[in-house]
Amino acid sequence: MAKKVIVAGGGASGLVAAVTAAENGARVTVLEHKDRVGKKILMTGNGKCNLTNMSDVHGKYYSSDTESLEQIYDTLVRFDAQETRKFFQRLGLYTKEKRDGGVYPVSEQASIVLDVLRSACSRLGVTIRTDCALTAVLPKKNGGIARVMQEGRNAQEIAYDRLILATGGKAAPVSGSDGSGYALAKSLGHRIIEPLPALVQLRCEGGFFKALSGVRAQGTVRLLIDGTEIAAETGELQLTDYGISGIPVFQLSRLASRALYDGKRCEASLDFISYIFASNALDSSKIDSKKMENMNFFPDKTVEECLSGLVHKKIAAVVCKQNGIAASVTIRQAGEEKVRRCIKLLSDFRVRVAAPKSFDSAQVCCGGVALQEVDEHFMSRRCHGLYLAGELLDCDGICGGFNLQWAWATGHIAGEAAAR
Ligand SMILES: Cc1cc2nc3c(=O)[nH]c(=O)nc-3n(C[C@H](O)[C@H](O)[C@H](O)COP(=O)(O)OP(=O)(O)OC[C@H]3O[C@@H](n4cnc5c(N)ncnc54)[C@H](O)[C@@H]3O)c2cc1C
Repeated sequence: MAKKVIVAGGGASGLVAAVTAAENGARVTVLEHKDRVGKKILMTGNGKCNLTNMSDVHGKYYSSDTESLEQIYDTLVRFDAQETRKFFQRLGLYTKEKRDGGVYPVSEQASIVLDVLRSACSRLGVTIRTDCALTAVLPKKNGGIARVMQEGRNAQEIAYDRLILATGGKAAPVSGSDGSGYALAKSLGHRIIEPLPALVQLRCEGGFFKALSGVRAQGTVRLLIDGTEIAAETGELQLTDYGISGIPVFQLSRLASRALYDGKRCEASLDFISYIFASNALDSSKIDSKKMENMNFFPDKTVEECLSGLVHKKIAAVVCKQNGIAASVTIRQAGEEKVRRCIKLLSDFRVRVAAPKSFDSAQVCCGGVALQEVDEHFMSRRCHGLYLAGELLDCDGICGGFNLQWAWATGHIAGEAAAR
């Protein structure tokens, strides 16, 4: 007898779970509370969908429980980036790899990813019910009852053999992931690790951010928690009127989010110049003296002008102001000590991180359903007939296609197991 599988959530993990369960003989219904499925897929990779990454997955994922990392890597070995590419190719979508290992549809259109998933659902007879929210689950000995609320209709109950909860997290709620899945999972006996915004901009303290707004600069961000550096990322930093953004900041943001949530002191040290000297193979301890030597060549130039040869003018102006150096002050007038302090600030511009931006701005969540509570098939250890997939689980990846890879992999594994 074909299993009756309900998939709650028509996002990345839910659609792959639905296709896979149907390919394995199940009768599948997808419940999606938005007016259409896959809204978030359309937003990914700036509309290009960075759908996976060919590089080694180790070190690219986080979980609140470090012991769960092995489970994450094991999953991503069983269904890896190559499997994702094969899966989509089977559905008629060809992909290409970029230099950083990121994989995109050859047309670089996120919409085609959704199109092939929707047409596979249609070909396989998957029923898609949009404007239809899963509001409660009543598990029974074999399967259970899903209570749903479809717009314009009374509440309804649908019997299932297997339920796959693929409702996403709380990031970008405009796409439909409003966090309702956490309450459903909790009602079924699961423990939820507080979901927090990740891959997100960081709000920082400091009146000078207004003056720095709009600056894009190559550099390194070092994250300090309670005074100790815990991670660093290099790339293009974006300075905004509220704080810091850009890929390096996104990559560190989940660590900052969690530390702030735990009541720890969180600082970012912005280094705008070390990379310039790195290419000259200069040891970092020698950078300050090398820079000092260069500055002393121009005793009658203003400090601001000299610093502007190294960094964006707006940064130079803020650094001078922080050291009480007016725009017209020359190197000679400022004196060695003050100039030295300016140079130091260019490689260690400390800012206090106040908070991550909200879920509205975040690309993913960190936290979610504890991974120890699902087995290797993503079957719940707490509730019979229940499977969980995607961002709802306590796993988050860095930028670069790693989060969608988690969604495809867990959706595929759960879909296959649920149909069996
Ligand atoms: C702007 C942006 C860009 C991104 N770019 C990339 C990228 O390029 N590469 C990458 O790897 N990752 C990217 N991500 C992250 C990636 O999109 C997510 O990690 C992934 O979509 C998670 O898949 P999911 O299926 O778990 O959840 P979602 O895709 O969020 O899907 C969950 C679905 O469940 C539905 N739902 C929720 N609750 C209910 C309910 N009670 N009843 C019925 N339906 C419900 C929602 O409406 C939604 O459709 C990006 C995210 C954002 C916001």
